[in-house]
Amino acid sequence: MERLTTASSVRFRLREARKAEQVIGYVPTMGALHEGHLSLIRQAGSECGTVVVSVFVNPTQFNDAADLEAYPRDLARDAALAEEAGADLLFAPEAGEMYPEGFQTHITPGALAKPLEGHFRPGHFEGVCTVVAKLLNIVQPDRAYFGEKDWQQLKVVERMVLDLNLPTAIVSVPTVREPDGLAMSSRNARLSPDARERARVIPYLLDTAQELLESATTETRTDSGPVLRQWLVSLLESHQPAAQVDYIAVMDPETLHEINEIRDRALVAIALHIGGVRLIDNRIITAPPR
Ligand code: AMP
Repeated sequence: MERLTTASSVRFRLREARKAEQVIGYVPTMGALHEGHLSLIRQAGSECGTVVVSVFVNPTQFNDAADLEAYPRDLARDAALAEEAGADLLFAPEAGEMYPEGFQTHITPGALAKPLEGHFRPGHFEGVCTVVAKLLNIVQPDRAYFGEKDWQQLKVVERMVLDLNLPTAIVSVPTVREPDGLAMSSRNARLSPDARERARVIPYLLDTAQELLESATTETRTDSGPVLRQWLVSLLESHQPAAQVDYIAVMDPETLHEINEIRDRALVAIALHIGGVRLIDNRIITAPPR
């Protein structure tokens, strides 16, 4: 696996792959790689001739300086893991390579970026869209892989690629979880043993949401969305009263509008602070056929 730090060297290196008509797959990450990232890299490897992985902790998508500072970084470890998972090229630019002196052009996403993460992290998706567009322009991949763990990010990026005619197919990959159901995340490493135990409430709520939707009580209600949401809020209060909630939302998975009556599918999205660490997760729940 080659390690490159400049946009021009990535372009140059990928010329060969393009000449050989290889499908180029791309996995953008912020490093601190775990099994979730590795499943994206492995899927890219199974579908593409050349796999590019980037590691870049993008400062513009952090609205909290302390969060950016605390973000785990270990490039040597990331390089070893990416290579083992099948990456051919690792692009790890310095911030100055991505944001040269005088940088002033940003991408502003629309309505999909307003609720949930967009509401609680102002400017976050502007940072995400700008860096993802830049990275897609540098790598120019045929396929780029994004995790369903960050469902709203996936929808915002899909929309941006469509709106800006970027010639890359966005491929979504299911969330990889720990054996007890907690979604893998680079932030999990910051949980104390006690907070790690308490974090199990998140997959518990998501699984319970599916069970509640299947129960006869919600099935016929025109307000099943808000009712389900309220049940989840109460469940959280009884199981983990100390958890600080950013949101528990029941939404249309494609428009990210709140849903009143869940007819077929709904996105349940959760963001909580547990032991000082902000965790997000989601699940698509499906209503039983009527
Ligand atoms: P990050 O390094 O957190 O920016 O994540 C890079 C990519 O990996 C994003 O597309 C994430 O959605 C994806 N990802 C992060 N965690 C997981 C997970 N547990 N399962 C699947 N994909 C994930």
